[in-house]
Amino acid sequence: MKIYISADMEGCTGVTDVHQTMNGRPEYAFGCKMELHDVRAAAEGALEAGADEVLVNDAHGRKINVDINGLGSRVRLLSGTPKPLGMMEGCSGSDGVFFIGYHAMAGTPVAVLDHTISGGTVYSITLNGVEMGELGLNAAVASSFGLPVALVEGDDALEREVRAQLGAAPVYARVKVAKGRLAADCLSPADSYGYIKAKAKEAVERLKARQIPLFDIGDGSYDLRVTFHTTTQCDAAIQIPALERLGGRTVRVRGRGMAEMRRWTGAIIGLAGTANG
Ligand SMILES: [Zn+2]
Repeated sequence: MKIYISADMEGCTGVTDVHQTMNGRPEYAFGCKMELHDVRAAAEGALEAGADEVLVNDAHGRKINVDINGLGSRVRLLSGTPKPLGMMEGCSGSDGVFFIGYHAMAGTPVAVLDHTISGGTVYSITLNGVEMGELGLNAAVASSFGLPVALVEGDDALEREVRAQLGAAPVYARVKVAKGRLAADCLSPADSYGYIKAKAKEAVERLKARQIPLFDIGDGSYDLRVTFHTTTQCDAAIQIPALERLGGRTVRVRGRGMAEMRRWTGAIIGLAGTANG
């Protein structure tokens, strides 16, 4: 059995401030340390529960956060960016997916570092009319490759998002309780390590018992809408001919297959993010 880990940073143990997640800030070293800490715990748990191999996709920012020196054998690291499928690059061919260090979608009240893909660019994203964050979009990509989401780690707000969108089956590791966007009551690393590891073991057991259904992603045809913070970002995005402008800040693209739609999110948000003013 092969486990795929998509590893973000905002939901990791002890991370509460945006500076801890930003390359170039003195606090960034802490964010990197905690992403490695939580990924190691999840990978160890998966391997001890019988997984043969773990592939970790570094999925935050420049995607060079995880220090490979901290990973043990039978764990590979997909490091760097850009990658065609971004946070889900390389998931195909595994047996189940873990989302480590994830966070709630943009606009969620009392949620640590809530955002969707790019905090400065994206106000909201809908897929076939349903508002989705990184959790839902990436779970849909996983599902399109036949992969169930077995474990998610983050704060209590993300746990509510998991239950609302993916149901009761995924195992959840709640390492902090949000007190606001930039504040949380956090487990210590000494406690969260064993906790995440135990949850990873439980997730692998549930995968083996086929107790985790696939996220329902419909018939494969999609209407994806991205609403930006500013009209300038929309002006930049609509240089892509396939996009239809639905208003001052919103674009739509229609397509088939979640791999294609996830690549659209990367292209649209990347281009919109170049706009100033
Ligand atoms: Zn992130």
